[in-house]
Amino acid sequence: MAYTKHWANQEKLSKEEKAKLEKDGLDILDDIPYYARNGFDSIPKEEWSFFKWAGLYLQKPKEDGYFMMRVNIPSGVMTNEQLKTLAGIAKDYGRDVLDITTRQAVQFHWLQIEQIPDIFDRLEKVGLSSVGACGDIMRTIVGNPLAGIDPNELLDTREIVNDVYHYFQRNRDFSNLPRKYKISISANVDNAQNAEINCLSFVPAVKVIDGKEVSGFHVYVGGGLAAKPHLAKPLNVFVRPEQVKDVTIAVTTIFRDYGYREKRTRARLKFLMADWGPEKFTEKLSEYIELPEKGEERLTGWNAGYFYGVHEQKQEGLRYVGVNVPVGRLHTEELYELVRISDQYGNGEVRTSNSQNIVIPNIPEDQVEAMLNEKLFEHLLPEPKSFMGYAVSCTGIEYCNLALVETKERMKNVADHLDEALSLEVPIRLHMVGCPNACGQRQIADIGLQGIKMKNKDKKMVEAFEIYVGGTLSESAQFNEKLKGKIEAGQLDGVLVQFLQVFKQEKYRGETFHSY
Ligand code: SF4
Repeated sequence: MAYTKHWANQEKLSKEEKAKLEKDGLDILDDIPYYARNGFDSIPKEEWSFFKWAGLYLQKPKEDGYFMMRVNIPSGVMTNEQLKTLAGIAKDYGRDVLDITTRQAVQFHWLQIEQIPDIFDRLEKVGLSSVGACGDIMRTIVGNPLAGIDPNELLDTREIVNDVYHYFQRNRDFSNLPRKYKISISANVDNAQNAEINCLSFVPAVKVIDGKEVSGFHVYVGGGLAAKPHLAKPLNVFVRPEQVKDVTIAVTTIFRDYGYREKRTRARLKFLMADWGPEKFTEKLSEYIELPEKGEERLTGWNAGYFYGVHEQKQEGLRYVGVNVPVGRLHTEELYELVRISDQYGNGEVRTSNSQNIVIPNIPEDQVEAMLNEKLFEHLLPEPKSFMGYAVSCTGIEYCNLALVETKERMKNVADHLDEALSLEVPIRLHMVGCPNACGQRQIADIGLQGIKMKNKDKKMVEAFEIYVGGTLSESAQFNEKLKGKIEAGQLDGVLVQFLQVFKQEKYRGETFHSY
């Protein structure tokens, strides 16, 4: 393995790294047909963690043998055929549920090993894959949910995203990275990609080269959340659209060869960037690819991945409609309705966003009203309320082995309760997570709710939450900060209502939570 040349010298490889030296994560794809024929009991325990490379995690409790599957949706763009296939999998195997993640991917639950080969076949037939959706490998590529239809985008990034995605899919040169690796490629000027929290991001920029203005990208490296969140740092380079793949290969090679492999908790690219800094990183990158210095960035703000309502597309006479999917969870009936509606009124496409919501594109202007009169949009609202519309939640204890508390249903109930108790003219982004990890991106929320266990006054262990406030990726990007104390889960609604009533009374008109 050529790529062991740097990290083989690291003296104390973590146990996970040692296991990866014995077996490449992608090898699990060759083993799955055997396990599917012989049942869950035929899978040795030490193999369980390799299923991540196939996009599969064991649900809680692991011994029951049910899997969660994450499916890559690069840039969040799904064709009608793909959505129909996903709906079919949810119906036949996934107990009617599909969750949209905070990286535009989708997740099924309750899958059994015997079903996996058929699910792989169905996905492959429509050009979808769960491979690399989890594990120490490049994850799904986040992009502009409006790519190709966005009247403000600097350029259409769909082809670039697909090119990079297919290059890295099942690529064994990059299937043993030090840790998970998240990238985004977007030319959306409102930073719908959440650039600063990815390991590697391409953001819209222009540069005058040979007297001509060229549209391309700036590069941010080393962002990431979890217990030690870091904001990605800009490198002093400008990248032309046709160079994005080569730059991605170069940065990924640097991460693979120089990233830390001794402690899992220090293995993300953000730690290498924190030690090297952007200058050294830029210098190292120049050994792989020659790039000009930065141009002018074209990010104008941050929309956190929200696109509610009806909007003009860059194509005359066409509209896109953004609707809320409460806490990102869809059921089979809704999925089939989306298949029908997007086909009947649009071109069949549906797109996912980082905010766990969807966009239906390409609706002729004169069809919008009829479409929005469909019953489905009594539940998936184009103009949702201040709390439900901006409530994000991770999977939580229902399926996740690391979770300390229940999240999805709880987040929905809390948002419902807040919408009944309070009306605000500005949205409040509430994110709930079941542990210190970052699947619900708690760190960038206006109000982040992180599940913990604590002893109550009767000395009983109960579900509880820490509250964090003030996260944003707008101009002065910052992670939210923890408030003193912990709140028992049962008291969460009441405490939040009181807290937000104070905000409502004291804020001036139009003031957002972050600027408060
Ligand atoms: Fe599980 Fe924690 Fe991720 Fe939530 S944030 S899905 S609890 S690992």
